[in-house]
Amino acid sequence: MKFKKYKLTISLFFTLSVLITIIGMFLHNNILVKSNSLLINQKPDISSKVENKVNIGTRLQIIGSKNHWYRVVYHKNKIGWVPKWSSNRIIAPKNNKLAQSTIVLDPGHGGSDSGALSSNNDYEKKYTLIFAEKTKKKLERLGANVILTRNKDEFVSLQRRPQIASDNKATIFVSFHFDSSNSKNSASGFTSYFYHPNRSYKLAKSINNNLNNLPLKNRGTDFGNYLVIRDTVTPSVLLEMGYINNDKDFSKIKNLSYQNTVSNDVCNGIRTYIDKEYK
Ligand SMILES: [Zn+2]
Repeated sequence: MKFKKYKLTISLFFTLSVLITIIGMFLHNNILVKSNSLLINQKPDISSKVENKVNIGTRLQIIGSKNHWYRVVYHKNKIGWVPKWSSNRIIAPKNNKLAQSTIVLDPGHGGSDSGALSSNNDYEKKYTLIFAEKTKKKLERLGANVILTRNKDEFVSLQRRPQIASDNKATIFVSFHFDSSNSKNSASGFTSYFYHPNRSYKLAKSINNNLNNLPLKNRGTDFGNYLVIRDTVTPSVLLEMGYINNDKDFSKIKNLSYQNTVSNDVCNGIRTYIDKEYK
């Protein structure tokens, strides 16, 4: 009798620990969809076919990962891929392709490289970071995965910046800068530069078209031989958002409303581009 009871306790203990392990594994390898709806792709890539859509509250079982994407089992036996970041977003991505994009924003200069100077010796590097950070917040609210090439006042080499985009398999790359002319107050306005016409013109055009309500002159879209948009495989644009050594331009660059409008417009330009390219 005593022996039987002992056996029963052992087997109960054994069953219980197996059960706990299984539940633990299940919870550990699971994600709960927190956004209104989440697209499931055939491959870990924004351009791959969308297989399905799951709703808020769905549990996905993670069975692998690649390039910032999870391979998951959903609806019991179906398999597909979701971006790691979007499965966890509480604020609903609007079910668009932007929510599947990795966007690298590049605040020009930094650290020992101050960039151009304003007439009262303010640094370009300070404002490139402000504009990039504002744009990052807006893009994240729409569900995108956003990576900054720097998030503080530090030196990052020109070569490293597009490398960050390719390392992260970025959908696009946008660099923020401010122009400077040889003599102060001699030039004004903003320009959107691309290097590779086939790869980047459409993105430059889309961003430039959205920069349509600014108090500075739109100098349009143009070819620009800049390393960060040249030595890259990612669609890449470099924005010169005003002349820092023009007093009128600089008063806008410092202005909160100008900063917010630019980041909104850039965000809309990116969104329009991605929606068109990956529909
Ligand atoms: Zn610059």
